Amino acid sequence: MIDMDGVLYRGTNPIPEAILFLEAIQKYPHIFLTNNSSETPESVVSRLKDLGIPTCLAEHILTSAIATADYLGGLEPGFGFYAVGGPGLHAALRVQGHEDDTDPDYVVIGEGEGLDYRSLTAGINILLRGKARLVGTNPDANLDGTLDGRPVVLPGGGALVAPFQAATGMEPLFIGKPNPIMFEQGLKRLGKPAGEVIMIGDRPDTDIKGAAQLGISTILVCTGRFSPDDPYPEDAPRPDLMVSSLAELDLIRLEAMV
Ligand SMILES: [Mg+2]
Repeated sequence: MIDMDGVLYRGTNPIPEAILFLEAIQKYPHIFLTNNSSETPESVVSRLKDLGIPTCLAEHILTSAIATADYLGGLEPGFGFYAVGGPGLHAALRVQGHEDDTDPDYVVIGEGEGLDYRSLTAGINILLRGKARLVGTNPDANLDGTLDGRPVVLPGGGALVAPFQAATGMEPLFIGKPNPIMFEQGLKRLGKPAGEVIMIGDRPDTDIKGAAQLGISTILVCTGRFSPDDPYPEDAPRPDLMVSSLAELDLIRLEAMV
């Protein structure tokens, strides 16, 4: 299981070590786990190609939007939803459920454009008057991205669901990392038990914490949000291995971990 932002690229810059690493691991079953819920896997793949990273397949990408749709589909097959977020969120939810802006089962808030005065008003009225449960694709406060071609810090899933929470007093159910649901969905897709899987990520508080809760081995790569000089967060477990970059990971070392 491989996180994307901070492991394969950083904002709009590719991490060069990722290219060789991805070639080397092609023989192992693998899946990319990303909390990004605004894009479809296909648009993630084409963005990575533009960055010079050609080895990711759309069917190997599990976004928090897809994990949310699959999880809700398991709870309530064919569920009705009102969603606020980017195209990747709507596309994922339509596979498992149907749009309903009168009395849906879930109000689902994800990343990307969509939140404005009207969509917030519609969402809170649905929540306060109907049966819907409030769901957030992922709890991140912010993420690195681009807007109109410029690199910027974008609001994350946690920031975008917060106005709905404030207006209704409801606590959202989050699916993305560090919630174990996202990792369980990943294990299901890999068809492997936790003991045979390694999670590679750049964030102790999401990648390492979430994977460790399920007994998945963990590797922290210091090419993203965490640097070895930072104090290690007290509420996150230590990774099984910490490396400065993917270049330090050879296959013998990986195979020895599981
Ligand atoms: Mg990351």
